Amino acid sequence: MAADDNRPILVPVLGDQLTRTLASLRGRTKDDTVILMMEVWDEATYVKHHKQKIVLIFSAMRHFAAELEDAGWQVDYVKLTDPDNAGSFTGEVARAVERHDPRAIHVVEAGEWRVQQAIEEWPDKFDCEVKILPDDRFVASLAEFRDWAEDRNQLRMEYFYREMRRKTGLLMTDDGKPVGGEWNLDSENRKPPKDGMSAPERPKFEPDEITQQCIDLVREKFADHFGSLDKFEWPVTREEAEEAADAFFAERIENFGPYQDAMVAGEDDLFHSMLSTSINLGLLDPLELCRRAEQSHKDGKAPLNSVEGFIRQIIGWREYVRGFYWHQMPHLQRANALNAQRGLPEFYWTGETDMACLADCVRSTRDNAHAHHIQRLMVLGNFALLAGISPPEVQDWYLVVYADAYEWVELPNVAAMILYADGGKLASKPYAASGNYINKMSNYCSGCRYSPSKKTGEGACPFNPLYWHFMVRHRERLENNPRVGRIFSTWDRMDEDKRQDYLDSAEAFLATLEPAGKTWAKSSRAQAGDTPQQNLMTNHGGCAILT
Ligand SMILES: Cc1cc2nc3c(=O)[nH]c(=O)nc-3n(C[C@H](O)[C@H](O)[C@H](O)COP(=O)(O)OP(=O)(O)OC[C@H]3O[C@@H](n4cnc5c(N)ncnc54)[C@H](O)[C@@H]3O)c2cc1C
Ligand code: SF4
Repeated sequence: MAADDNRPILVPVLGDQLTRTLASLRGRTKDDTVILMMEVWDEATYVKHHKQKIVLIFSAMRHFAAELEDAGWQVDYVKLTDPDNAGSFTGEVARAVERHDPRAIHVVEAGEWRVQQAIEEWPDKFDCEVKILPDDRFVASLAEFRDWAEDRNQLRMEYFYREMRRKTGLLMTDDGKPVGGEWNLDSENRKPPKDGMSAPERPKFEPDEITQQCIDLVREKFADHFGSLDKFEWPVTREEAEEAADAFFAERIENFGPYQDAMVAGEDDLFHSMLSTSINLGLLDPLELCRRAEQSHKDGKAPLNSVEGFIRQIIGWREYVRGFYWHQMPHLQRANALNAQRGLPEFYWTGETDMACLADCVRSTRDNAHAHHIQRLMVLGNFALLAGISPPEVQDWYLVVYADAYEWVELPNVAAMILYADGGKLASKPYAASGNYINKMSNYCSGCRYSPSKKTGEGACPFNPLYWHFMVRHRERLENNPRVGRIFSTWDRMDEDKRQDYLDSAEAFLATLEPAGKTWAKSSRAQAGDTPQQNLMTNHGGCAILT
C-alpha cells in the first residue's frame, strides 16, 4: 500500500450543508476522514446579513460539529475569532491542506454561484484530488432541470411541479392522476383573514450556551448590521427543527392553505410553517416534510388544499427557483428588463413610513429576520416593483434581511418573481397590485393614515396611483400580455383628468421617497470599496490574515 493511502480525505462542510447524509459524508469512514467546518469573514460580510442570520448559521454549525464529534467523527472547526483565520473558504481549505495533508478533498457543490466559482478553482490550487459532488438534497438534479428547461419556449413552475409530483409520487393516485383530480388548489387558498384571527403559538427555542456565545460574538463584531437581537428563537439543531415541524403538523397545517395569503398586523407567522431556515440549513429534509404533509391528509388531519399548497411550495416553488437560478446565472444577477433605477427608500431599513402595511412588514423583518411569503411578495415586493427600485438594491436588501436567505433561493424570487427583471422568464406576469389587494387580504389598512378606497391626492393609498404609473410606464411591454393586457382598456376608458391625476399623484409620492442613507447603503455589494478585506480590517480589530 502506498504511504499516501494513509492520508485522510478532507471533507469541507459549508454552513448550509448541515446534513448527516450529505453526499460527501455518505459512505465515508470515521478513521480516514477529517471534516472541515469554517466560519469565515467573507461569508459573514459579503452583504451585511441580519444579526439573527449570522447567529443562526454559526450556532447551527457549532451544534452540528459537536454532534459529529459526539458520533466519533474528527472535526476541524475554525472559528471566526481564530487569530489565523484566513477569512475565506479557499484560504481556510489551504490551511487545512497544510495541517492534514489529505489525499483528496471531497466537497458538495455550493448553493451559491459565487462560492461554486471559488470551489471550482480548488483542483488547480491544491495538490491533491478534488471531487465536487452534486448536492442531492433536492428532488431534481441540476441536469434534470436543465433538460426540462431546454425543451421549452416558456418556463412555468406549474408544469415543472407536475413533473415533481410524478417523480415523487406525492399526492398521486395509483393510475398516475393527481389526488382529488386537480394538480393545483391555489384558488381555494386565498381567504382573507377573519377578524381577530391569530395562530397557535409556535415553539420558540431559548438560546443555549453555544447560541449565547454566537449572540455575544455577533453583538461585538457585527454591531452595525441590520436587525434586532432582542430575541432569538430559531431552531439550531435537527432535534429542535423536528420539534418545530411536529408543532406545525399538529397545529397549523390545517389552516395553512386557506390563509396562506392572509396578513394580520402583529401576527408575524400566522399559519406558516416557519421551517425555511431549517430546510435551507440542511437540518430538515424537504421531501420528508412533504411525505408528512401527505400523511396528515391521509390521516384526515389536514384538508387537501392545505397539504397540496404546502407540497407545491416545496417540490414546486423551492425546486423550481433553485433550478432556475443555476439555469440563469450569472446574468440573472444583472437582469433589469424594466430598467428600474430608483434607490431603495430608507424606510426599508427603518420601518419609518406612514404606510402601515410596509411599516409592519419591515418591523417583522427587523425583529424576526423573517416576513411571510405574501408580505415579501405583495407588500415589500409589490412596492419595490411599482416604485421602480433598482434590482441590485432590492436583491441585496432581501439577501441581508431574511434568516433563510441564500442567493439561490432569494435571487429568483426577487429579480424574477417580484421585480420582473428577467422580463417574464420565471413568472407569466408582474405581481403588481393596488391598495385594494392589500386591503382585502389584511387588516393593515384600518390602522393606516392612507385610505385604500381613495385613488389619488392627499390621503390616497400610494399603491393606487403607483399601480397605474407602473402600468403606463411599461405599457409597451405589458399590453400584449394575456394576463394583464386587458387592464389597459380600463385605463383608456378613464377621462383624461383622472388619468393625469393618477400620474401626478404617483409622481408627487415618488418625489417624497428618501433614499437609504450611507450606513445602510454600505451593506450593498454594489457600493465600491466595501470589500470583505476592508471589513476585516475595520471590524475585526485589524487581525487581517487575508492574502
Ligand atoms: C421576494 C421574496 C424573497 C424570498 N426570499 C426567500 C429566501 O431568501 N429564502 C427562502 O427560503 N425563501 C424565500 N422566499 C420564499 C418564501 O417567502 C419563504 O420561503 C417563506 O416565507 C419561509 O417561511 P415559511 O418556512 O414559514 O414558509 P411556508 O409558507 O410555511 O412555506 C413552506 C416552505 O415552502 C418553501 N417555499 C415557499 N415559497 C417558496 C418560494 N417562493 N421559493 C422557494 N421556496 C419556497 C420554503 O421552503 C418554505 O419553508 C422569498 C419569497 C419572496 C416573494
Ligand atoms: S392604505 Fe395603502 S399604504 Fe395603507 S396599509 Fe392599506 S395598502 Fe398599505
